[in-house]
Amino acid sequence: MECIFCQIVAGKVPGEILYQDEEVVVFHDINPQAPVHLLITPRKHIPSLAQLSEVESPLIGHMVDVANELAKREGISESGYRLVINCGEEGGQLVAHLHMHLLGGRQLRGGLG
Ligand code: 5GP
Ligand code: ZN
Repeated sequence: MECIFCQIVAGKVPGEILYQDEEVVVFHDINPQAPVHLLITPRKHIPSLAQLSEVESPLIGHMVDVANELAKREGISESGYRLVINCGEEGGQLVAHLHMHLLGGRQLRGGLG
């Protein structure tokens, strides 16, 4: 198994998992860009948004639900936060396993790249 996020999702990297259910696993980003920087990651290895089928797209809604819940838990629901999914090389995606960033806990800048 080469994909690092598949390994984390499978529990092969100890101590990282913050939340999990049947569809997704949440863990801290190894190189946090904000005081709160979590990765909401489907258990299923879908390489990117570009490979997400219409049948699979309700997963994105679930990922948003989980991110909103985690934002509450982390105490940033009121102050605000950002959800980001990078797709492909020019979209800034580094890990080829679909994931959503939850960023918050500081004033984020307005730029989007
Ligand atoms: P992308 O650029 O693909 O949207 O984001 C990938 C993110 O995964 C980066 O923010 C990077 O810091 C994080 N990351 C890369 N490798 C690992 C890892 O082994 N463990 C964790 N927890 N995060 C990782
Ligand atoms: Zn994977």
